Amino acid sequence: PLGPALLFVKTGEGKEEGRRFYACSACRDRKDCNFFQWEDEKVSETRLAAREEYNRNHQPFFTHRQNVERYKNFVLLPLAKRKFCQECQQLLLPAEWEEHSDHQFLCDISTAQLKRPSQLLYPLENKKTNAQYLFADRSCQFLLDLIIDLGFRRVLSVGTPRLHEMIQSKASQEEDFRVRSLLLDIDFRYSQFYTEDEFCHYNMFNHFFFGGEAARETCRKFLYQDNGERVIMVTDPPFGGLVEALASSFKKLMAMWKETEKEVGHNNQEMPVFWIFPYFFESRILEFFPSFSMMDYQVDYDNHALYKHGKTGRRQSPVRIFTNLTPSMIVLPVEEGYRFCAICQRYVSSGNQHCEICNSCTSKDGRRWKHCVLCKKCVKPSWFHCNNCNCCALQNHTCEKTDAGCFVCGKAGHKRSTCPSLSHT
Ligand code: SAH
Ligand code: ZN
Ligand code: ZN
Ligand code: ZN
Ligand code: ZN
Repeated sequence: PLGPALLFVKTGEGKEEGRRFYACSACRDRKDCNFFQWEDEKVSETRLAAREEYNRNHQPFFTHRQNVERYKNFVLLPLAKRKFCQECQQLLLPAEWEEHSDHQFLCDISTAQLKRPSQLLYPLENKKTNAQYLFADRSCQFLLDLIIDLGFRRVLSVGTPRLHEMIQSKASQEEDFRVRSLLLDIDFRYSQFYTEDEFCHYNMFNHFFFGGEAARETCRKFLYQDNGERVIMVTDPPFGGLVEALASSFKKLMAMWKETEKEVGHNNQEMPVFWIFPYFFESRILEFFPSFSMMDYQVDYDNHALYKHGKTGRRQSPVRIFTNLTPSMIVLPVEEGYRFCAICQRYVSSGNQHCEICNSCTSKDGRRWKHCVLCKKCVKPSWFHCNNCNCCALQNHTCEKTDAGCFVCGKAGHKRSTCPSLSHT
């Protein structure tokens, strides 16, 4: 149901090691989608038919077009008749109230509420597939201001519904607001609030447009406007997502933009990108996008217990902006403690000291890091050089290098599925 599967390979011990298989690109939990097929497996006609039937049954109840029609009718209703079913996460028309009579409703849905669907819809919480962490207003406003200051006019919002709605809402209210956004997201609930020119149902793990060629064309047209100039892609994928799969999709979106070049020529440039992701993925992202660099800005979230500002001051968020724009152009707010390092030519966290030996501001997490002469690099303040392991580590670590550690945070003792960096309450 979520478009083409991805090809994986079994790793670890056991006799099936190295065997390749197809599984769902977005649902990494077999409970959510049990699609599984060995690469070399022969699939019977009956099973194919059963799959097709399953896929048909797992399509959304209304099409995007139908949802757009429904919205038009919904906004014509007087306030007292505007109801939203919380169970079904759906705007209701009066004829449908009956069917939902034992469900919880939100009533008197105002125009202001319709302009902020991310607050009306509950955030999807499925940890592995569709964890939705919504930007805190402060971070969302920062991103938009930055985008405007950099002179961009169009934003391809890939998995950033809150940024999209901030842009759409300003565009409808402020006459001289010139920025436009197209949202690509797997969360089909948003099709109730946006037209087919504002939202495409999209899977960023396999670059799949659920709306087919027409939707792909919408995206292409959006990128092509004004000869592809002044457009930026902003994406904030689920942190459990496979970097490889994401990078492959983003490269395809960037290639889509680049096709405009045939007509106008962008001097061999890349489409500007902000990829918002935790700092411990830096090396993975740079592997796929060597032109990217990581900014020190800490992105905060509303509904993430770990990554938001507490009442008692700043809690550190591990989430950063990766971009192919020149770092010196990304101006970070001085009032939040960022400063410009003239040597590195970029804004850094206040705690991030320039290391004379590394000749760079080396901290990744905002704390002051210290240089280890033996490792020939800066390390976390809590680390000490261990002569056994021949590298820096926590003082109470167990000296064993065999454990490869978690794929997400690199620490030993757990796997990515149970990584505390991804957890939330
Ligand atoms: N901070 C962002 C939301 C990020 S949460 C904001 O406030 O706007 C991750 C987003 O990616 C969610 O909107 C989720 O629906 C979307 N998403 C998750 N899996 C996806 C996939 N496979 N393809 C496209 N979008 C996906
Ligand atoms: Zn520096
Ligand atoms: Zn150093
Ligand atoms: Zn060391
Ligand atoms: Zn981990």
